[in-house]
Amino acid sequence: MMDSPLTGPPGGVDTSRYDADREDLDALIAEVGETTDTAVPSYRVNQLWQGLYSDLVDPKDITTLPKALREALAERLPAALVEDTRSVGDDGDTVKWLWRLADGSLIETVLMHYENRSTVCISTQAGCAMACGFCATGQMGFDRHLSTGEIVEQVVRAQMEAGDRRISNVVFMGMGEPLANYDRTWAAVERLHGDLGLSARHLTISTVGVIPGIRRMATERLPVNLAVSLHAADDELRDELVPINRRYPLADLAEACAEHVAATGRRLSFEWALIHDVNDRLEDAGRLAAYARPLGAHVNLIPLNPTPGWPTRGSSPARVREFASEIRSRGGNATIRKTRGTGINAACGQLRADRSDAEKRPTEPVTVATPKHRSPSR
Ligand code: SAH
Repeated sequence: MMDSPLTGPPGGVDTSRYDADREDLDALIAEVGETTDTAVPSYRVNQLWQGLYSDLVDPKDITTLPKALREALAERLPAALVEDTRSVGDDGDTVKWLWRLADGSLIETVLMHYENRSTVCISTQAGCAMACGFCATGQMGFDRHLSTGEIVEQVVRAQMEAGDRRISNVVFMGMGEPLANYDRTWAAVERLHGDLGLSARHLTISTVGVIPGIRRMATERLPVNLAVSLHAADDELRDELVPINRRYPLADLAEACAEHVAATGRRLSFEWALIHDVNDRLEDAGRLAAYARPLGAHVNLIPLNPTPGWPTRGSSPARVREFASEIRSRGGNATIRKTRGTGINAACGQLRADRSDAEKRPTEPVTVATPKHRSPSR
């Protein structure tokens, strides 16, 4: 069967150190004992687990373990992420990594420190199949799903970097569509919650609106936050900006969102990248408010960040403010988000792992259609 970007296997390595669960590690420790002919006591797995999930150290540095065992484990439990590039912006408050995976795929992770919290934005796929034209990852196409370990390790590595500043929030808003890689993404959620101790209230899954995934989330034990990348509240425009809307149109999406809210009690949020003269007019705000209000959804507004393959620009600060007050005057809730990481290409929608493009697709320039039915001036 062909790998489908909606359901296929990762096609990568799923034996990295954060892919293994406790049983896998138990088995591994027993196996190492057998091959070295020295019985390894079962409490060693607790020490290994503590090293990986509490102390966040490399197996070779877990000093409670005997040296030979450490070395054997380090070899059998390779890191999934090799740092290719690290960029620092916003006076040290934003750190972006470009990671190289075992099969050569490249993905990005962004750590953001705020006054009272630290948030990490993680990827769930290498590339993305959702083809939203304004998004740099959408422009590059789909490579493969990430394994659970590849997802979890992004948080671990960011926490290692953050040191004393504890990562409190994780947003699944990096490269890829989390709900198109549901099982591995959800296994990562469970791991972040159960083993790294993050509160479900501080985990947010962001989706283009994959309805079956939203419905499944509503049945899960852990109530995590749901963010939907809306960007348009009429089907004609949304079909164009977020192509999956043709399969999962707005009316059905609203029903699935309502189910999630009812089942989890979590507040729903809508992401809206304001694109100059495309979705930033007052009537767009009116339609958005009418769509969001019955769902009690909170709207996050962000001016579109420029990306190489999309010729339109973000809305001006004045337009963003007008748009927000129009939503509020119609009884909706809206926050204007501050852009982080623009200077290091780490802002929303800019994650694209430029090097992979340069290396893998040298002869295939990305072409993305210009939005056609909105005139550039008004
Ligand atoms: N596939 C998921 C998660 C990744 S995108 C999703 O679509 O929700 C994370 C957020 O960045 C989404 O809200 C997405 O629409 C937004 N985004 C993408 N490109 C952007 C751009 N150029 N400017 C601003 N936001 C963008």
